[in-house]
Amino acid sequence: QPNGVEQVASGRIGDSANSAPREPPPSFEQIQESRRGLPAYQVKSELLQIVRDNQVIVIIGETGSGKTTQVPQFLFENGFCKDGKMIGCTQPRRVAAMSVATRVAQEMNVELGEKVGYSIRFEDRTSRGTRVKFMTDGLLLRETLVDPLLDKYSCIIMDEAHERTLSTDILFGIFKDLLSRRRDLKLIITSATMDANRFSNFFGAAPQFTIPGRTFPVEVVYSRSPVSDYVESAITQASKIHLATPITSGDVLIFMTGKEDIEATCSGLRSRLSEVQLRRTKENMNDHAESIEILPIYSALPADIQGKIFHKTLGKRKVVVATNIAETSLTVDGIRYVIDCGYSKLKVYSPQIGLDSLRMAPISLASANQRSGRAGRTGPGIAYRLYTEDTAYDDMYTQAIPEIQRTNLSNTLLLLKSLGVRDPLKFPFIDPPNEVTALFSLFELWAMGALDNLGNLTQLGTEMANFPLQPALSKMLLIASQNKCSEEVLTIVSMLSVPQVFHRPKAREEESDQARSRFFVPESDHLTLLNVYSQWKANQYSAKWCKRHFLQFKSLQRARDIRMQLCRSMERQGLYVESSGTDWSIVRKCICSAYAQQAAKIAGLSKYVHLKNGLELRLHPTSALHGAGDLPPYIVYHELLLTTKEYVNIVTAVDPLWLMEYEPLFYNFTRRSENDGDLDISDHKGDELDLCLKSWAIKRANLLQNM
Ligand code: ADP
Ligand code: MG
Repeated sequence: QPNGVEQVASGRIGDSANSAPREPPPSFEQIQESRRGLPAYQVKSELLQIVRDNQVIVIIGETGSGKTTQVPQFLFENGFCKDGKMIGCTQPRRVAAMSVATRVAQEMNVELGEKVGYSIRFEDRTSRGTRVKFMTDGLLLRETLVDPLLDKYSCIIMDEAHERTLSTDILFGIFKDLLSRRRDLKLIITSATMDANRFSNFFGAAPQFTIPGRTFPVEVVYSRSPVSDYVESAITQASKIHLATPITSGDVLIFMTGKEDIEATCSGLRSRLSEVQLRRTKENMNDHAESIEILPIYSALPADIQGKIFHKTLGKRKVVVATNIAETSLTVDGIRYVIDCGYSKLKVYSPQIGLDSLRMAPISLASANQRSGRAGRTGPGIAYRLYTEDTAYDDMYTQAIPEIQRTNLSNTLLLLKSLGVRDPLKFPFIDPPNEVTALFSLFELWAMGALDNLGNLTQLGTEMANFPLQPALSKMLLIASQNKCSEEVLTIVSMLSVPQVFHRPKAREEESDQARSRFFVPESDHLTLLNVYSQWKANQYSAKWCKRHFLQFKSLQRARDIRMQLCRSMERQGLYVESSGTDWSIVRKCICSAYAQQAAKIAGLSKYVHLKNGLELRLHPTSALHGAGDLPPYIVYHELLLTTKEYVNIVTAVDPLWLMEYEPLFYNFTRRSENDGDLDISDHKGDELDLCLKSWAIKRANLLQNM
């Protein structure tokens, strides 16, 4: 009976929901035993001595040697938390902060959130008794705003410093001055080998301490010809490994760029292996095709699912499909095979077009080697690179470019301004930002009204810096408060701060697209998000309701939580939280004013051009604006995605008059036809007039020189 067979075989191969027996969680004794086996443990007393003797030290050690989990514990156990002070440990990524805190709490046999806790934006799992606090580097940076001397801390460990995130770099500059004002504060910088000299030199020849590591050789196998679809190749490679080697030969780690390709790889691999299983069952062959557990890990994944990558299911091979979080931040034991797609998702700012965008970029050679190295922790391993050797040497940088040199700096500059740094360009950067980028970012802040003509913070700018949000979103909240619609805008901003709320499961795409379209507000994706939230609220925040409407309950819950926090923050600042009732056009005006620099006008059937730089843009296919027949003539957008095409994501239709009203300095009307005389705005009749950027604004770079 083929049907019967199919039912068995198409089951849930590698599905993590499967309840196969798991290895029992390790006992406290077992955990202590494995702690003692870590390279960091072997050098504990030398390490503590060098920390006692120096204010700043740089620790270098192979990934997995125990830098992150052990060093904070060593400090805690050896009297570095006197007078109720804390040990702070920063991580470049939220997932790492949460995961590592969980592990350390387990190792110390305490409840997470008590002695050991973590704090990330909008989520604080610490308490009065917390002594070891993990957090994102961005969060510590914001803490310096309220506590410039970081008085609560006795030691700061800046972990994963080689990642060179924007926040880590800025913190370095802040520490330069802070360390001389707080002689008792220790700074420990950890790095996976590269760049260590740089850190030492920056802090006046700070000593380096190397944790001796042990690694096994890893054979690197390049693709022989260029790969057109790395998801497909990864699936093929992973199933080959799985079918050709015994399960006990080791687990597999696949590097992808983000949620989409990770999910595609997981489900593709599952169905590939169930086909194999089906065929072999028909041929009466015994096979281990389905003895596999496929686990995704990326930042938008709920914490409980993230934790699964560390557990082992008996008799199964584990395949972890991860973003570059698994490159150095998290160590999964038992990996013998690595498959590397060669790309990662990067936020890039291009000063030429004055825009931020998210794009897929080749990783650096240093990252490629880190990724490969993950296969050689427990024994000799193999790393399959889904790119050719030529590509590696032609297209990849030796080292990644620090974030500060490739990203928009408006948020950072706003923060530095609020920290009282008068001339941010003279800030002690470990690597200075590109000057053009910095000037453009300053210009952007000025254009938003956050800086005055002399480059000082305005009232608006000061208030904007109080929110842990990107400048456009802080401004939207403040404008909304003035216009009595902050209830609505609070919801929108919160919804923009969580991962995708619409659920689009494989094989049910059509059904879920229909469900989504029922929430559409045809002139705005922002209002569509507001609509989703309002209906969820009207349905008592129900999880069942979410499921029925293809919405991610966890994302909505998080939005609700963020909303509460932002609301409190507004109240603390004495800002009004009021509702506009049913008048959503005022909400759209606020959206327009916040994104006035990110506006586009229609150019053809489905195309837009950017008003600032003429870049051709397309609406993201999921946009609610597609649902309304003709596309609106003018829009503002939340973000720009550069994949194979330029997409704008989350847009709102606006009246060009609003752009004129909010940004009279920038935008102007011209007649489309030549024969018209002078122009009055009251003349505005739809298509006859064209909104464009004033010519001086195009030459804004010159203006910047005088700021
Ligand atoms: P490093 O920071 O030097 O890269 P870590 O301190 O993160 O090293 O990890 C040390 C070891 O602790 C890893 O090799 C791994 O075996 C173990 N470990 C870390 N986190 C977990 C976890 N959540 N579950 C189980 N083991 C873990
Ligand atoms: Mg680490």
